[in-house]
Amino acid sequence: MNTLATPGATRTTCPYCGVGCGVVATPRPDGTVAIAGDETHPANFGRLCSKGSALAETLVPDRRLLHPQIGGERASWDAALDTVAARFAETIRDHGPDSVALYVSGQILTEDYYVANKLMKGFVGSANIDTNSRLCMASSVAGHKRTFGSDTVPGTYEDLEEADLLVLVGSNLAWCHPVLFQRVQAARARRPQMRLVVIDPRETASAREADLHLPIRADGDTALFLGALAAIEAAGAIDRAYTQAHTEGLDAALEAARPFADLDRLAEATGLDTDKLAAFLDLYAHTDKTVTVYSQGVNQSAGGTDKVSAILNCHLATGRIGKSGTGPFSVTGQPNAMGGREVGGLANQLAAHMDLGNLAHADVVRRFWNAPSVAQTPGLKAVDLFQAVADGRVRALWIMGTNPVDSLPQADGVAEALRRCPFVVVSDVVTDTDTMPFAHVALPSAAWGEKDGTVTNSERRISRQRGYLALPGDARPDWWQIQEIAKRMGFAKGFDFANAAAIFREHAALSAFENEGTRDFDIGALKTLDDAAYEALAPVQWPMPAGAAPTTRFFADGRFFTPSGRAKLLAVAPAEAPALTAERPFVLNTGRIRDQWHTMTRTGRSPRLSAHLAEPFCEIHPADAERLGIAEADLVSLSTDHGGATLRALLTPRVAPGTLFAPMHWTGQFSGAARVNALVPARTDPISGQPASKAAPAALRRVSAE
Ligand code: SF4
Repeated sequence: MNTLATPGATRTTCPYCGVGCGVVATPRPDGTVAIAGDETHPANFGRLCSKGSALAETLVPDRRLLHPQIGGERASWDAALDTVAARFAETIRDHGPDSVALYVSGQILTEDYYVANKLMKGFVGSANIDTNSRLCMASSVAGHKRTFGSDTVPGTYEDLEEADLLVLVGSNLAWCHPVLFQRVQAARARRPQMRLVVIDPRETASAREADLHLPIRADGDTALFLGALAAIEAAGAIDRAYTQAHTEGLDAALEAARPFADLDRLAEATGLDTDKLAAFLDLYAHTDKTVTVYSQGVNQSAGGTDKVSAILNCHLATGRIGKSGTGPFSVTGQPNAMGGREVGGLANQLAAHMDLGNLAHADVVRRFWNAPSVAQTPGLKAVDLFQAVADGRVRALWIMGTNPVDSLPQADGVAEALRRCPFVVVSDVVTDTDTMPFAHVALPSAAWGEKDGTVTNSERRISRQRGYLALPGDARPDWWQIQEIAKRMGFAKGFDFANAAAIFREHAALSAFENEGTRDFDIGALKTLDDAAYEALAPVQWPMPAGAAPTTRFFADGRFFTPSGRAKLLAVAPAEAPALTAERPFVLNTGRIRDQWHTMTRTGRSPRLSAHLAEPFCEIHPADAERLGIAEADLVSLSTDHGGATLRALLTPRVAPGTLFAPMHWTGQFSGAARVNALVPARTDPISGQPASKAAPAALRRVSAE
């Protein structure tokens, strides 16, 4: 409930990571805002990390986009909306519905996502709407879907606290989901028997706290979890009663895993020494209460979906799922990656967890929306979408709440694609992104603290983001902008939402439509919230089936959403190692640092956050540095087949010899030639479409000493 003793205080949700912490924001008379953790919020119980604590410092008016612009000149909303609607309608008329596209963001709210999807997939008739969440968790979505039959995170944050063995794979939880890591630290203090294993090529802040760190080579994860499944079989830890009753595919999965029972072969495939491997496999095979958390190191890979499957196989083979202190657990990077998934925010989803290409699902959506032309086939995933912009198949593009010129792989190619695109619309909060200069029309969006709606965190908890500040200038919510364009494109019926609450009610009603009694992952019980109840909505986990109490954990009953009702174990194979050459002998790993968020459009405004690590850098092993004549703090040049960047050398044994690490936050706006995503190839997982951002073959040389 948004009921607080302090006058003017508002309960809302942090706009950064997928932990989804509750925040209490209290505007002061001097115009500043006091920020505190919400002690009643079940994600954080009052805790905040450095980024959440510094939110007030980011609420600054400088470089704010306050008015619509056409061709860089201030315009009225009517003129801007008319221009966008006319150009989109004209492009569709001349080139078909798939010649237009929306590229949105895990930063926008579920209500924004819902209206955007409704317009594109129900009324324009194209599924060309994708999101920067594609860069974050698409491999987990694909892995969940083919094993569980649904994109479902089974567990809850409590499971991480209740586990006897917590394994972090490709997840620097300490920096990227800090409050969840704080909960783990507190649980370890209460329960000293709990073991923490970190599987990561780097010795991260999380790895430094682990009982065991496995510095795996890039993309060695599938081999490791094949070895783990083989070890589980060898230890007699397969739960035969569970697998016989609730799964299929075990025999084939075991057959694929058995070659990795050989420790020497596994060591070769993973780059790990046999002692560490043996210690991990023993723990993993013999600990019933095991949770495996995975994040970008698993997802951002050309074999990301198979990595997810290899992890899910281990949990299903042991029946370690759907019970307290167990389960595979994908943590999402963004505040609303999960909410976007619920309303079909990916180009290969429909809405309410229904599937594109499924005629029955398309019919449900068509009848519910009374929609003229529901998309029948999947649209373009993020990387392919920008390729289609580059080659002229997409001729009108609307970018909302994201900065693809810095965040997508082959970022220089993305800039070139936008330069060539006949019509680009950018909805954003600030003027100084590297994407904004390409906008033919710029639309000022409401920022955090000004907008109203919901987000869903990594444990499926829906929380309210509430506006507590007046909208500055002409800024408007993203859903309002989409609705106004829809009306002007002739789709007035269906786009007459009075407020965010009305959108949420429709979203919840669609979730329940024709599903009641047959599916238990809907949020239908929320479909009748009136505006006051929506305003007061307390954080709640879905599923929320009508007439039933919410459940917190999926698959406790061993029922899955596949046609057979059984989970599918899959026979997977390890991905190819990155193809290094004499010219490109290093493996470049990209990632995040503790105190910056994405492309720094918000955190870059906080002096406190910028003080943590003040400039772009590249971690280099001292042995490599010595060989190349690189000293600490030298400027170094990194290059790949796609671009270059100049960074400060940071010599550290945190990275293995032959590998490099560079954070992806700095942009042209903040640091000139340090756009790390310009280096990353547009190589994607063939199933999920997620880019392989963590294993680019790269060259390194010293530029100068400064
Ligand atoms: Fe915000 Fe994530 Fe930090 Fe929580 S852990 S305060 S959601 S950035």
